Amino acid sequence: MTIRYKCRHCETEIGQLPFDSIDEQFLLKNDITPEEQDMYIEHGTEGNYTIQCICEECQNSLQKFPNYYALKKWIQ
Ligand SMILES: [Zn+2]
Repeated sequence: MTIRYKCRHCETEIGQLPFDSIDEQFLLKNDITPEEQDMYIEHGTEGNYTIQCICEECQNSLQKFPNYYALKKWIQ
């Protein structure tokens, strides 16, 4: 079982982690609530998870164009 980190804007796969690492690497570090978990973590098939996060490239774009923060998906 693995967790995939995928950019929620451009759908680039950022990386993968073994399932065991989810608590230490993501949940605790980002201090997210159960509601946010539902928003950002997709429960895929075969026990795999996809975590919607943001890649470096999109992060940079958002810093340059903060208005895009209001839109959930601005690259189609
Ligand atoms: Zn991206």
